[in-house]
Amino acid sequence: MKVNIAPLLKAPIGTQTDYAVTEAPIDPHGENAELLDASVESIDADIVATHTNPGALIEGEASAKVAVQCSRCLKPIQAPVRTHFAEQYYATIDVLSGDARDTAPRDAKTIGSDFRIDLTPLLREEVILATPLAPLCRPDCKGLCLVCGRDLNLEPHVHDAATNESWAKLEALKDFHPERE
Ligand SMILES: [Zn+2]
Ligand SMILES: [Zn+2]
Repeated sequence: MKVNIAPLLKAPIGTQTDYAVTEAPIDPHGENAELLDASVESIDADIVATHTNPGALIEGEASAKVAVQCSRCLKPIQAPVRTHFAEQYYATIDVLSGDARDTAPRDAKTIGSDFRIDLTPLLREEVILATPLAPLCRPDCKGLCLVCGRDLNLEPHVHDAATNESWAKLEALKDFHPERE
């Protein structure tokens, strides 16, 4: 979602504007489609833009649903992700005079000559950072059996020592390449 912050930059320093981004599910042809690249399926964000000396501080809170895989059983799941963020955007052009302003620090987010800020890439970045690295389908997910690979949540089982041994033998056979003369 692109927002025009020219009116904010014309208002006194400290002036705030609120924005809300709510989309569930994300429309693949809509203005927030970029979120789908990060597997974000829905988003609900409240954002406040404050006119600051260098430009605009974009601060907000977002809740998203992200499509991930359970790190133990590999089942596709939806992880709820919450994030709080604050990002300073630097104006590169003075909104009143049209003159170029002091250069922004390296790697800083800038506001171009159209005075629009695209909130979608910011939300995408923040949700990615807040997405758990090892999500679980449930806290006590039993995962996949290390011996046969079956889902231990669906088919709880143990292998007795003999079975383990025959699996071990099979594994050994796989790597066995007899030399021939
Ligand atoms: Zn799981
Ligand atoms: Zn098994």
